[in-house]
Amino acid sequence: MDILKTKSAMQEWSKKKKKESKTVCLVPTMGYFHQGHISLMEKGKPLCDELVVSIFVNPTQFGPNEDLDSYPSNIENDLALAKKAGVTAVFLPSKKTVYPEKFQTEIKLQYLPGFLCGKFRPVHFSGVATVVTKLFNIVMPDIAIFGQKDYQQLQIIRQLTLDLDFDIKIIAGNIIREKDGLAMSSRNAYLSKLQRSSALSLSKSLNLAKELIARGEKNPVAIKNQIETFICTFPETTIEYISFCNPKTLEAVDSIEHQVLLAIAVKVGKTRLIDNALIDHPAQ
Ligand code: AMP
Repeated sequence: MDILKTKSAMQEWSKKKKKESKTVCLVPTMGYFHQGHISLMEKGKPLCDELVVSIFVNPTQFGPNEDLDSYPSNIENDLALAKKAGVTAVFLPSKKTVYPEKFQTEIKLQYLPGFLCGKFRPVHFSGVATVVTKLFNIVMPDIAIFGQKDYQQLQIIRQLTLDLDFDIKIIAGNIIREKDGLAMSSRNAYLSKLQRSSALSLSKSLNLAKELIARGEKNPVAIKNQIETFICTFPETTIEYISFCNPKTLEAVDSIEHQVLLAIAVKVGKTRLIDNALIDHPAQ
């Protein structure tokens, strides 16, 4: 497994592989791997000749009061797990490599960041879009894989790939959960024991909504009210948003007639957790 730390080394590596007609797949990450990350690597492995993982905690996607400085990291363990998953190259750039002095370009989408997490994290998605654009130009993959766990991010990447004419196939990976339903996340490491049990309020809310919709409930407000009451029974929870929306545009729906995305963000203590599910209406 090759470890590449500069833009030029990574670009040269990819150019060489392309000259050899190899297919390159990229899995962008911020490291501190869990099974969610590994599942994306496993999804990519059979689709390509060369599997590249990038590990970069991107400062531009964190707001001033967010957890950039405390974001968990264990590079040695990540490298061992990547190797085991069959990764052929890890792109491990420094902040200076990605954002040299006088860097001044930003990629900003007009509509998709206006919903869900974007309302609460105003700089987040321009940071994501900018760094992913750079990763696409540096790694030059044929395929890139992103998790549905970050559903809004996935939609934004799909849109920017289309808008900026990247010849890259975007593939989505399913949400990987702990046995009790908690969506895996590097941020789960922040949770105390009590908070860990409160974190279950998110996946349990998704299940509650699925049951209500299966029984014929079509009114998102009625379901939201039930979910709100339910989440509030868990200690240390503060709801940021509960949204039923169109899975493509992310606009809120006022009646559940087709497949909907239910997206939830809750702060458990100081840790912000997100989860989501695509829910089909029983009539479909
Ligand atoms: P991160 O390191 O948190 O930036 O995540 C890197 C990639 O892993 C993103 O595409 C995430 O959507 C994806 N990811 C994170 N958690 C999960 C999970 N529980 N299941 C599947 N994919 C995930």
